Amino acid sequence: PPDVEALGRGTWTLLHSIAASYPDSPSTSQQSDLLRFVKLFSKLYPCWVCAEDFRTYIGREVPRVGSRDDFGKWLCGAHNDVNRKLGKPEFDCSRWQERWRTGWKD
Ligand code: FAD
Repeated sequence: PPDVEALGRGTWTLLHSIAASYPDSPSTSQQSDLLRFVKLFSKLYPCWVCAEDFRTYIGREVPRVGSRDDFGKWLCGAHNDVNRKLGKPEFDCSRWQERWRTGWKD
């Protein structure tokens, strides 16, 4: 089976990078593509317990795909849900673009 930690780090990088490159004002078809991607991802992610919990999260917190910042913050919340479960520190979601898009200023 894949290494759940390495897989997770690589996957979060991919998902947050998708959020960072998502438009501010996505078209209807871009919104439906992203929603389908998230739902299919939640069925195919090759850590089955992780995928099951992620599907539960999606059922509780419907993915917000209306803009880059909406999706980035939704994804940050999903990642924080996993962080809480694993006892990792929560990330300040107001800063997701600094981490994944614009770079930290200082
Ligand atoms: P990661 O959590 O991989 O984070 C990578 C980097 O992202 C961090 O260094 C930080 O800079 C940044 N970051 C942290 N939190 C946020 C946030 N909220 N928003 C934006 N950026 C952030 N592992 C399990 O053991 N059990 C599970 O059930 C499980 N479920 C998972 C579900 C999904 C959908 C994914 C993608 C991964 C899952 N994992 C799970 C893996 C787990 O989340 C971590 O990826 C893994 O433990 C490695 O953690 P890490 O400390 O290296 O940092």
